[in-house]
Amino acid sequence: NRKFFVGGNWKMNGDKQTLEGIIKGLNDGALDPKAEVVVAPPTIYIEFTRSKLKKEIGVAAQNCYKVASGAFTGEVSPGMVKDCGGTWVILGHSERRHVFNEPDELIGQKVKFALEQGMNLIPCIGEKLDEREANKTEEVVFRQMKHIADNVSDWKRVVIAYEPVWAIGTGKTATPDQAQDVHKSLRGWLAKNVSEEVAHSTRILYGGSVTGNNCKELAGKPDVDGFLVGGASLKPEFITIINAKK
Ligand code: 13P
Repeated sequence: NRKFFVGGNWKMNGDKQTLEGIIKGLNDGALDPKAEVVVAPPTIYIEFTRSKLKKEIGVAAQNCYKVASGAFTGEVSPGMVKDCGGTWVILGHSERRHVFNEPDELIGQKVKFALEQGMNLIPCIGEKLDEREANKTEEVVFRQMKHIADNVSDWKRVVIAYEPVWAIGTGKTATPDQAQDVHKSLRGWLAKNVSEEVAHSTRILYGGSVTGNNCKELAGKPDVDGFLVGGASLKPEFITIINAKK
């Protein structure tokens, strides 16, 4: 009963011309009507994307700040994203955590505020290679989950993305069994620390080098409820990924 969900994180890519081409491909593509689809353009293109994209597909910001307005040069608030037609926001993406040094506490504050402002969220978690090799995957993702979960007021508006850092942009996709193992542990954590109902109903996405070739096998795993796609979401194969369950 968890609706299959596919997010396209365009990261800091594209210009109006190339994004218009990607949007046209999505508008004209034969997309599985049973899949929920959301794309996350660079913030400055949220309104442009919303104005061109068919209404069945949602638009997300890739990040936003933890307060509504004020002297925070360079930041945007959830209200501004909404004002420009974005209804979702990705928070705590691995690049925010590791390139921009966002700590768990800040991500928790962002989760809390964005939900209060009525946004739908895709909070991201995932271990680095050295953490996996030291058998610390669960410790790391449970810690990250706790900072998120402690700040969630409405689980119906939250979709979790598990993105192992070593799989992002590397071509080293987690095997379907590796993804399933972590997703199952995360669902167990939710059952124990939030509720059985939330564990059962919350979608857990996999992200990290998802392609048209590996999506079907990953999507076949019982606890993989969809994907958060980077590089491949800029290409026609994104439609193959959206249709992984078709
Ligand atoms: P890639 O699909 O390019 O590995 O990126 C994954 C990701 O970070 C999506 O948020």
